[in-house]
Formats: sequence, structure tokens, C-alpha cells
Amino acid sequence: MRQCSDEMEASAHFRRYNARMDVSHLLDGLNADQREAVTATDRHLLILAGAGSGKTRVLVHRIAWLTQVVGVPPWGVLAVTFTNKAAREMRSRCDALMPDGTRGMWIGTFHGIAHRLLRQHWQEAGLPESFQILDSDDQLRMVKRIIADLGLDDRRFPPRQAAWFINAHKDEGRRAASIQGGNASTDPFLEIYRAYEAVCQRAGLVDFAELLLRSHELLLREAGLLDHYRRRFGTILIDEFQDTNALQYAFVRVLAGDTGSVLVVGDDDQSIYGWRGARVENVQHFLRDFPQARMIRLERNYRSSANILAAANAVIANNPGRLGKRLWTEDADGEPIDLFAAHDENDEARYAVARVREWIDGGGRAGDCAILYRSNAQSRAFEEALLQAGLPYRVYGGVRFFERAEVKDALAYLRLIANRADDAALERAINTPTRGIGARTLEQVRARAREEAVPLWEAIAREIEARTLASRARQALSGFVDLIERLDASGADLELAPRIDEMLAATGLRAHYANESRGMMDARTDNLDELVTVASRFSRSEEDASMNELAAFLGYAALEAGEGQAESWEDGIQLMTLHSAKGLEFAQVFLGGMEEGLFPAQRSMEEPGRLEEERRLAYVGITRARERLILSWAESRRIHGIDTLGAPSRFLREVPPAVLREVRPRIHLLRPAQVAGGRAMGSSDAAGGFRLGQRVRHAGFGEGTIVDAEGSGAHARVQVNFEEAGAKWLVLAFARLEPMA
Ligand code: ATP
Ligand code: MG
Repeated sequence: MRQCSDEMEASAHFRRYNARMDVSHLLDGLNADQREAVTATDRHLLILAGAGSGKTRVLVHRIAWLTQVVGVPPWGVLAVTFTNKAAREMRSRCDALMPDGTRGMWIGTFHGIAHRLLRQHWQEAGLPESFQILDSDDQLRMVKRIIADLGLDDRRFPPRQAAWFINAHKDEGRRAASIQGGNASTDPFLEIYRAYEAVCQRAGLVDFAELLLRSHELLLREAGLLDHYRRRFGTILIDEFQDTNALQYAFVRVLAGDTGSVLVVGDDDQSIYGWRGARVENVQHFLRDFPQARMIRLERNYRSSANILAAANAVIANNPGRLGKRLWTEDADGEPIDLFAAHDENDEARYAVARVREWIDGGGRAGDCAILYRSNAQSRAFEEALLQAGLPYRVYGGVRFFERAEVKDALAYLRLIANRADDAALERAINTPTRGIGARTLEQVRARAREEAVPLWEAIAREIEARTLASRARQALSGFVDLIERLDASGADLELAPRIDEMLAATGLRAHYANESRGMMDARTDNLDELVTVASRFSRSEEDASMNELAAFLGYAALEAGEGQAESWEDGIQLMTLHSAKGLEFAQVFLGGMEEGLFPAQRSMEEPGRLEEERRLAYVGITRARERLILSWAESRRIHGIDTLGAPSRFLREVPPAVLREVRPRIHLLRPAQVAGGRAMGSSDAAGGFRLGQRVRHAGFGEGTIVDAEGSGAHARVQVNFEEAGAKWLVLAFARLEPMA
């Protein structure tokens, strides 16, 4: 553990830098309010400001200011942000401001920081040294198994709901033991929680919420440790504070104690994780809990054109109960915001690709374009269109690299090598590829593990010893045990990448996937190779240097899993959900799927408060764009295999018409064959039957010209200026209009 005589070193540091460095670059490029925030001498600061007002920039410059000018040592800085991507970005921005200046700083996500604490203090935290992180997928399988073991009906107690119950309590800092029982409807969930805790403890597994809960408990329990870290991290800075949950806030309070100084930056209008326990009230609590905290507001937006900002301001203005901010910009109006009404999701994707092409042809970078959507399921159509167009892209979320089945299979072996007690890994590895260990054998092993309260690995050893199994089964089990032991021993001297390579061969995993695809092009073997590549590029951060390399890599894989695929695509078009786009910015943003029921999501219209959260998500989406914003919705969309007809999202109506430009004349939305069920129009009219300006004939009204159109699907209407009868709105599905030559 690093101990430092803080003050002496700090003042030496201070003198060194003051003597040698011109620090004006730390304040250049900041406006007066931002400078105020960067240089403030107040112990606690809250920066509450809208999107693109330079909050993150202030946070980074303040880190530089404190270390370069005030004399705070770099290792005294703890900076927390929301995603690994944002953390990398923050570190590189810090590095740019102060070369070599970030050594020893902790910059990461709450999860990453908690993980690091637990790795360094596993013993005090009550964990085995080789503990592993349990991702949400594995957690769900484990909960499922526990529900079965407890003899509960998984229709009445669905695993997903049980996992949610567990995580929600952990996020609030509650262990099973501290929850009051006696409620018939939740008691079974409590029982599942209790059993789940026991199994995780036995297997040395830590889920995402547990990382934080355990670190928090560690600090509360170990006075010496807490004291050490309080003295070390005198300066704590937190970005995206509006999305911290109760436990994260408690963690910050404990760590800051009476001596630390805390800066939080956030925007209540961008709180989008309420559904996962985030508490926007923390913003107000901060002013109450941190004495004399000073609030600074930033109101000028530097990111977006005036039109984009006007759209964002207008949409968010529909939310009640805001803390109230008005953003302004000195930027030019810029281009209008394009509104595209797509026929379906493929039409939408083709249009998105066309706009990207246009951007690139104009000299823009692919990486400056983002395609954002509400739900991961929407990415497929975009991916297909991009693939067809041969454009490089990168998807965040969706089925992420580290969550792909084949990659998880490989990781399961590695986890088991690192920690034999990892039951979740064992369950996954033992029969992938199949090796003749039958379901009955496995059930017997599980039963023994349950009865004797030991990990599966130990139960296997005891089964082999007891000789109760048929000899074929026993041999198969022994073979598996030997394989893992052998890989552990032989890999000890290898670097990570060759070690993984060897494992892929020895376990038969690579052959298994190659064989399954029978020589066809298959991404799965490529992904296994990619894992080897990722491992070869993996380098432990200096703080992880004390960790065993394999453990560090597995921790990285588990924590990164939520975010991206391999690095190499960094420069392509960026595809992600609105949630993962938080804090980022792009020159051109395409925001797809703006339909009622999709965005805002159907569920959000039924639960109080959720619609407001969706609207904040729209605000986040719109404010990601710097120069160009394209909004789109589709008349019909196939999602999860079901076709639905869409109506434009209410958020589109909230954008002032003055800044909108409809890219396609609306009449083109109306495919006569479709809206009229193909009956009245005849399919030959489907492609070009109706346009604005089209001459038409009607049985009752005579001849006229189409002058306007609105709606879609069964509600599509056109306005026809009839020579005799004057202007009339007609519903296409009923009107039986005939196009004229
Ligand atoms: P979000 O709420 O989306 O996280 P933010 O408030 O953190 O936004 P930043 O990302 O820090 O905003 O800044 C937005 C953009 O404006 C960045 O490109 C940043 O470099 C730029 N910017 C911020 N302040 C200034 C300034 N004073 N002069 C010029 N550019 C600035
Ligand atoms: Mg930011």
C-alpha cells in the first residue's frame, strides 16, 4: 500500500510546477463562469448545468488546476464518471493538459474503482484472492438454479424479477439479513436473495452491485483502511452526478468524511437511469450533506448549433419540476433539423447510411457520425445497411464482444483456472464442448454441492472419490478436472495471449466452433481469435500492477462487457443506444425510431414519472449533436419479429416547426397499395401513384390536384383541390381516388 507524506511531497510538487510551468493554458478556452468553477477555493462544489455547457471540461481542467497550481498530488485525485469509455476520454483529456501529470490518479467508473479496492484488499473484504465478477447474464442463470433448488415455481417467482429484487436492494445498500421479512409476497424473493448470497460467497463471485456494496462495507468496517484512503483521496470529482444511486452517494460521503473535498457536476435534465436506481435527489442532498457547498451554474452551450439547442430546450421544457436552466449559445442557427418519415426500418436505415455517405463524401470522418436509438434491437437494420454499403461501424451495447456466447465460453475456462470455486464458470465450461458428462451425473454433483455446502469443483472431487458414479461418468469428470489442472500449471509461465491460445486448443473450444460452422465463414472463431488479440493488447494500468495478470484481464473483460466490442472499430460510425451516448458528442447525429410506443417506450406511458425520464433521454439524444441532427420515424417497423404500425413520437411534435425541415415530401410516405390495402389502387400504382401535384379523379367530386397530405397507414389523408367541389381532405383508404396520367 502506498503511503505518502502528503504535505511535504505536495509542497515540493507545487514549487516544482510553479517554477517551471506556465499554467495559463489551464484557463485559456474557459469562460468566466467556467474559470470560476475551475479555480474556486471552496471545499465543495456543485456544478449544475445543461448539456454541452462544459461541465466535463471544467472537471478536467479543475483536476489540472488543482494538481499543477494548487499542489494537490496526482495520487490524491479520485475522478469518477459513468462509463469506461468516458473514463478513458477523461484520462486522455487530462493527459493532454498535463503530460505525465496523471500518474497515480484514479480515474474510472464507480464499478471500476470498487473493483480495484476489492482486488487490493480482498482479504479484509472477506473474498478469496481469485474472486471473479459475475455478469448479469451469469447472475440470471444462477438465480434460476437457486429458484429450482429451493423448489419454488419460477412462473410465480420469475428469475428476472428475483435478480431485480436482489440488485435493487443491493443498490440501496441492503443485505438479505437486514431486510424485514414477514411479507408473504416478497418473502420468497428474500429467501432467494439469502441463498444467492451464500452461493456467491462460497464461489467467490461478486456481481456488479456487490462490487460497490462490499467496498462500501469494507470502508465502514476497516477504520485503518478508511483513514488511509481518506488521507489519500483528498480530492474527489464526480461527473454525471445526477445518475448516482443511493449506494454510490453513500460511498462518496464515507470516503470524503470530514476532510475530503468534493466536486460534483451534473444536469437534472439528463437523469436517465431512474429505472436502475439512480436518484436525481442526490443533487439536492449534496447541498444539504456537504457543508457550505457552493453551486455554480453554466449557461452557455458550446456544443450545438442554435437550431439544435432550440429543439432541445423546447422538448425538455415540457417536463414539470425541473431545477430550471436555460441554455443559450452564440453559435449560428446552423442547418435545420431534418425530419425523415421512413416507410419501415430498412428504409430508415438506408436513409441513415445515405446521410453518413454524404457526410464522408463532404470530407467528414466516419467516427464523427453517430446513429442513436432507444433500444438495442434497433441496431440490426442499421448494421445490415452499413455492411451492405461497406462502411466501417462500431456498435456499443447489443450483443457485446465480451458477452458473445463463444467468448463467454472461453472466459469461463479462464475463470475456472483462476478460481476453482467459480460455480457459474464451471457450469458453463463443463459441457462446452460436450465431453460425455450427462445431465444425471451433473445433477448428482449439484446435489452433493448443495448438501455439503461446497463449490461444484469440490463436489466433483468428492464424487470421484466416493466412487458412487458409473465408471464412464467418473472418467469423464476426472478428464475435465485434469484438463483444468493441466492448463493452470502449463499456463503459469506463459504470457496471457499464448496462454489463451493454448487453452482454446486444449479444451477443444476452437475446434468445436470451427466444426460447427463447417468451413463456412463464421464470426465465432474470429471472435475467439479476437480474444487472443485483445489479450495481447491488454496491459494492466499501473494501479493494477500488483494484481495477477489473468485476474486483471478477467476483471477488465467483465467490466468492459457492458460497453463495446474490440477497439479496432473505434474509427467507424458509432452505433449506440441513447443511454450509452450520455456525455458524448458527434458532429452528425441520426436519431432513429422516434415513434410512440418505441420512444417514448410503451411501458413509460403507463408508469408515473417514466415519461419524463424518456423525455430527458430525448434531450440527451438531441444534445449529442454538434452540427447536424436528423430525426426519423417509421410508419411500420418489425421489432422482435412483430410488425407494428407507428405514429410519430410526441417528442417530434415538441420540436418547434421553425427549426424542422421535412426531408421527404409527406406524400411519398403514402404508398397507395399499402394504405388502401392494395384494393382500390391496384398494385401498379404502388410505387408512384401519388405525389404532391398529382392529378386525380374522384367518383363524386370530379377531377382535382393533390395539394397536401398527412398521416400514414390507415389514417393517411390527402387534400385535393377539386375544380368543381373545392378543397377536400380525403382518407385514402376509403376515398377511391384514381390517379390520372
Ligand atoms: P454533457 O452534459 O453532454 O456531458 P458537458 O456540460 O459535460 O456536456 P462538455 O462535453 O464539457 O459539456 O463540453 C461540450 C463541448 O463544448 C466540448 O466540445 C467542449 O470542448 C466545448 N467547450 C466547453 N467549454 C468551452 C469553451 N469555454 N470554449 C470553447 N469550447 C468549449
Ligand atoms: Mg459531460
